[in-house]
Amino acid sequence: MKILENIALAPLTTLGIGGRARWFVEAASEAEIAEACAWARERGVPLFVLGGGSNVLVADKGFDGLALHVALQGVELEGDLLCAAAGCLWDDCVLRATEAGLAGVECLAGIPGTVGGTPVQNVGAYGQEVASAIESVRAFDRVAQEFVAFANAECGFAYRRSRFNTTDRGRYVVTRVDYRLLRGGEPTLVYADLKAHFSEWKKTPSLAEVAEAVRGIRQSKGMLLVEGDADCRSAGSFFKNPSVAPDVAERVRRIAAESGVAVRMFPAEGGLVKIPAAWLIEQAGFKKGYTLGAAGISSRHTLALVNRGRATAEEILALAGKIRAAVEQRFGIRLVMEPEMVGF
Ligand code: NAP
Repeated sequence: MKILENIALAPLTTLGIGGRARWFVEAASEAEIAEACAWARERGVPLFVLGGGSNVLVADKGFDGLALHVALQGVELEGDLLCAAAGCLWDDCVLRATEAGLAGVECLAGIPGTVGGTPVQNVGAYGQEVASAIESVRAFDRVAQEFVAFANAECGFAYRRSRFNTTDRGRYVVTRVDYRLLRGGEPTLVYADLKAHFSEWKKTPSLAEVAEAVRGIRQSKGMLLVEGDADCRSAGSFFKNPSVAPDVAERVRRIAAESGVAVRMFPAEGGLVKIPAAWLIEQAGFKKGYTLGAAGISSRHTLALVNRGRATAEEILALAGKIRAAVEQRFGIRLVMEPEMVGF
């Protein structure tokens, strides 16, 4: 294990923003993960686990601790069980699964980032979430200093949540995830964008065709990492889609009716109502392509804040603050930021 010093983090994130890590280590094995955690613990140094860097905003002053880059590789397919090391690219796993005729993750194609991040925020899109496929998660427990395995039911999965980003935030470093898929299963086709894509098809599309369609839809929204695409310099969705109490949803409906605009709402867990954050932002006056200094809103998706050149973390946060204030003023809803904030 080699501990490096003063390593720039910006190139390791999709936003391309932020200062340096005081210390940095790339761990390519479980032994190195344990070693890196011990190194930080013995020195009382804070630890930040970096995967694909697709959901983080690093402070301009950097991170005064050890950035642990999880680089474990290796994917195995045993029957309908896909076992992937935490550092593998998630989209490669989706490709592998769909090509093998295994259903369960086809709608999660094109999501940037690595396997290790998928159980943490229970990654989901277009009507699927990894919680439905995950069989077990292996991780290093930084408190007990040992490797542990969690069965699905022990992961505390809920909408975009798990024990790893709530009650046990920061405690575990995920090293491997096993996904139980369905051989010969039908693709999930429930979201309007996807249904519209296949509306003229006479037959049910294959898993690989659905995954490819999802990549295409994501690309049209600037949500697929493509070299040279300025709208990709983002951390994906910057705000969570809020789930609100029915009376709040009713107020939003009223405001929409008064303005003569339609609003889509969806039932959410616990009797709540899910409202697309992008709609709230647009109705609060922020359109695609909006710019504030070197920060801006993607020209293809209102939910993605982008780095238009040499944006700083402060500029991104200033824009986020402006958007949140406007949404709160118009609808009384406080948007929650989705990326992990590092070094603030
Ligand atoms: P979208 O498809 O325009 O959807 C906007 C909002 O409407 C989301 O809250 C979505 O719920 C909801 N929605 C749309 N159709 C729905 C349906 N048939 N049933 C229930 N809810 C429905 O969103 P987008 O921003 O372009 O993103 C596309 C997909 O990628 C979404 O599913 C989004 O959640 C997902 N995504 C996930 C992450 C993540 O895991 N961190 C990050 C970025 C985007 P859901 O959010 O529950 O789907």
